[in-house]
Amino acid sequence: MINAGMNIARINFSHGTRENHKHTFKRLRHASQKAKQEIAILQDLQGHKVRVGRLKKGDELRLATGGIVRIGFGEWVTAERIGIDYPKIADFVETGHRIFLDDGMINLNVLTKGGEDLICEVIIGGMLKSRKGIIFPDSNLEFPLLNKKDMDDAQFGAHLDVDMIAMSFVHSATEIFEMRIRLGEWGVKNSFIIAKIEDRIGVENIDEILDTADGILIARGDMGVSLAREQVPVVQAQIIQKANTRGVPVITATQMLESMIYNHYPTRAEVNDVYNAIISGSDAVMLSGETATGRYPVQAIEEMDRICRSAEKELRLRQTETIRIDGKEGLHDRMAEAVTTLVKNMKAACVIGLSLSGSTLRSLSSCRLAVPIFGVVDNISLLRQLLLHRSLFIVTMPRSNRLSDLVDPLLDRLNKKGIILSGDRVVVVSGEIDQKGRNTHLAKVYEIN
Ligand code: PEP
Repeated sequence: MINAGMNIARINFSHGTRENHKHTFKRLRHASQKAKQEIAILQDLQGHKVRVGRLKKGDELRLATGGIVRIGFGEWVTAERIGIDYPKIADFVETGHRIFLDDGMINLNVLTKGGEDLICEVIIGGMLKSRKGIIFPDSNLEFPLLNKKDMDDAQFGAHLDVDMIAMSFVHSATEIFEMRIRLGEWGVKNSFIIAKIEDRIGVENIDEILDTADGILIARGDMGVSLAREQVPVVQAQIIQKANTRGVPVITATQMLESMIYNHYPTRAEVNDVYNAIISGSDAVMLSGETATGRYPVQAIEEMDRICRSAEKELRLRQTETIRIDGKEGLHDRMAEAVTTLVKNMKAACVIGLSLSGSTLRSLSSCRLAVPIFGVVDNISLLRQLLLHRSLFIVTMPRSNRLSDLVDPLLDRLNKKGIILSGDRVVVVSGEIDQKGRNTHLAKVYEIN
């Protein structure tokens, strides 16, 4: 999968055991070493997601259309009662409210309450498996800012040294802020938090979330259950546009090549979806079921890789206008915009960015230049976090105060690989704090002999 083009591996903490996740984590690091290709490991926390319990008998339970079933707090799922991991559900749900199970595949309607349980009619039946998600789109459930499972999992992830963390069903900036504080307490110096936008409240508060998160994930699976399905493309376009102008990397996720769970090839519509997600400004596209349980995980990544390359080629040909970003990086953003003009005027072949904090590179990526950006950073954790940003190709080198110590070996490498040729121009950008504590930015144009 790494050789096929995977840059980031997500470990979903909604499923499995910590022991298993640790094992997967180690295998990923080992595979990355073997493939001589860095990848980032993203820990995905369950967040405010309510799930059904475990089936008492068998792997699947048939819920027949027109049948009656109870829902309430508990560990077990039987034909009569579906246990869920949310206590006192009857306090928050009213008669007539809808309930969606397994990404909306099964629909229920609340008929009445029976003590702390809900008594429901199955409107659209289907096969239910253990630990599937359950959504109450008409009800306002209450959740703690950060739940115990997420906190324990995040602490576990911090000790493993995951590269990024994703928070599910994010509703506010405060949750992200709180998580960052906790991660700091557990020794994570430069935490990288991705907010998964999955429901109406997350969408409504997208501006404050964008101001606080390091990345955004458009979780179309749950979003398509919480909101009307036809709203998902509208919200996707709005979030991508807002994230782009804020300089926040954005991932479009779920059902991208869904049919490849069973088939060798995707549908034309799926190919179009991935292509358009890139053209409209996503930094990354994500596979889930296709690679987690699908029959063709490697082929799905290869397919996605090819579509992304095709979209990127088209974008380069279009030479679109620079996106004006007003991100968190301040001066870096203005510098990156200036570099975009410089690249155009100089007809440069590529940009080299030297960055200690990653800010210069993040801003350059956000400007969506028509040429590749080669970055130099001094540590592997930062390199891995930057894998999420579009158009960046990063290497690590030991820190040096002399520009030529970093630029010369990189130019040699690019030259040897045929990426730059004699006569080409390369724009080098560097941002750093000087010895007097001043912010400095420089751009220098190299002409290759
Ligand atoms: C989604 O709902 O689209 C999603 C990515 O979330 P998860 O896979 O964690 O349920």
